[in-house]
Amino acid sequence: MRHALSGHGASRGNALGRARVRLPHALEVAEERIDADAAESELRRLHAAIDAVRVEMRNMRSQLHGALAHEVGEFLDLHTLLLDDPELLQGLDDLVRKGLYGADYALRLQRDRLAAVFEGMDDAYFRSRVEDIDHVIGRVHAMLHKREADLQGVAGEILVTDAIAPAELSQLQAQGVLAVVTAGGSALSHSAILARSLHLPLVVGAPLALQQVNDGDVLVVDGASGEIIVEPNAADLRDHRARVREEKRERKQLHRLRREPSRTLDGVDVKLFANAESREDVAEAHALGAAGVGLYRTEFLFLQRSELPDEDEQFRAYRDAVLGMTGRVVTLRTMDIGADKADRTGLALADEPNPALGLRGVRLSLAREAVFETQLRAMLRASGYGPLRVLVPMITSREEIVAVSRLMARVARDLRREGHEIAERVPLGAMIEVPAAAIALSGFVGAVDFLSIGTNDLTQYVLAADRGNDALGDLYSPLHPAMLRLLHHVIRTGRARGKPVAVCGEMAGDATLAPLLLALGLEEFSLHPGTLLEVRRAIRAHDHATLRSAAPALLRCRDRDAIRRWLANVGT
Ligand code: PEP
Ligand code: MG
Repeated sequence: MRHALSGHGASRGNALGRARVRLPHALEVAEERIDADAAESELRRLHAAIDAVRVEMRNMRSQLHGALAHEVGEFLDLHTLLLDDPELLQGLDDLVRKGLYGADYALRLQRDRLAAVFEGMDDAYFRSRVEDIDHVIGRVHAMLHKREADLQGVAGEILVTDAIAPAELSQLQAQGVLAVVTAGGSALSHSAILARSLHLPLVVGAPLALQQVNDGDVLVVDGASGEIIVEPNAADLRDHRARVREEKRERKQLHRLRREPSRTLDGVDVKLFANAESREDVAEAHALGAAGVGLYRTEFLFLQRSELPDEDEQFRAYRDAVLGMTGRVVTLRTMDIGADKADRTGLALADEPNPALGLRGVRLSLAREAVFETQLRAMLRASGYGPLRVLVPMITSREEIVAVSRLMARVARDLRREGHEIAERVPLGAMIEVPAAAIALSGFVGAVDFLSIGTNDLTQYVLAADRGNDALGDLYSPLHPAMLRLLHHVIRTGRARGKPVAVCGEMAGDATLAPLLLALGLEEFSLHPGTLLEVRRAIRAHDHATLRSAAPALLRCRDRDAIRRWLANVGT
């Protein structure tokens, strides 16, 4: 039956396809109550799923052969026993019949109860049996949502899951996935950034998606508004088609701006650089007339693999980016691994209690000097092919930038001695994304050639609000007076010392915020190519002098509403 779900639009685009539901290992379903007269049919649904899992396991058991058949068979037997456990079944029946919980939530409650018993045991073996409970209950949960057992492949499908890692996204797209819907997550996570780069529609923070979407359901997903329609009716399909047409029309209109300058009404030229995660982004940046690449996130070379890329492989990727921009500068950011960009190579620590505050970005690079040196060698070798800058993430203090600068100088000497042709000078820049670096900027601005403000992390660290945590809602937003003052301070300090300052966080790609950044004195934006033309259009619609004169009023705003009113007044 038709119903609508809502989440947050994280990557624009419209998709119409069938759902492929991927359930999490742990059952993170929200509380759902049912009416008393629906209890018996809910129980029948639950028992039908349990019976089907029993049959499935029996079939699997009978098909086992080969060396491990005995061991695997024992596991299946154990799981079948758990399924027949009167404790489990009675508990579920009570939760649905007396507690009036939906089947999904009853499974979750029962799982947690049983897990608590096992986890409280002294014996490590019994404690580890929680995994079996998770497996069995997970299978029943999956069966509850299974309509067709034989969905093959994922092409033409919309993945519905609890969370998505950045590393999975490009693989999914290559497999033909049309869009992704996640129960958790946030629009500022690295997965969201990558989805936008891949032009893969993504809706995050749709908590009911895992309960209310079944495998094989037809979905209409709007990656801009975050709306998901399950089993759309004729009107929904019409709306979807209209949105697709509108999207095309808008693209065509924007396309006309690709050869136009990014110039305000009063003739101030603003530099629009591109953020790039891939070869395709570089090509798109070039085609749209970007001033260069302002942020090349090199860590994406490291994320989808279990071995580190060697010097030559990195060199080829960096060189190709430089060649692809045909003489426009490419800013390579040294690897920003750690936090939500955990790799599989073992480079980042796996068990940090607080990874966003841990060994991330330049901290990790300096702690793994050999790996860092390999990356710097590859970067400097690429500088022989065209203009290149090196940008360092997560700078907190002067010592870090000095250490990188020294290492770069040594690497350059080595490469020259080995006969490599490298640029005479490779500008070194710092990302300003840790509040300490923004506040104490005057103390180290002399040690860098340029600055790039990472508003995604700066927002997270200034507001103590995790960029990936959807539960924080509007709290995570750069539209906070503290953020505006810091941005203003960094832009002013950089300009006073003659150092170019860009913003490369997602904020720069939001056309509605362009007047705010211009008012604060920003003259360089680095944004995903997918949003470049919209921001160009916004810049061309504003008068620079008028915005600059409205900056004091902007800086006096006391809260988000006042900032929004300021934006409305300057006409976005
Ligand atoms: C930022 O933090 O704003 C930024 C551009 O870096 P990333 O999003 O890769 O952390
Ligand atoms: Mg960052």
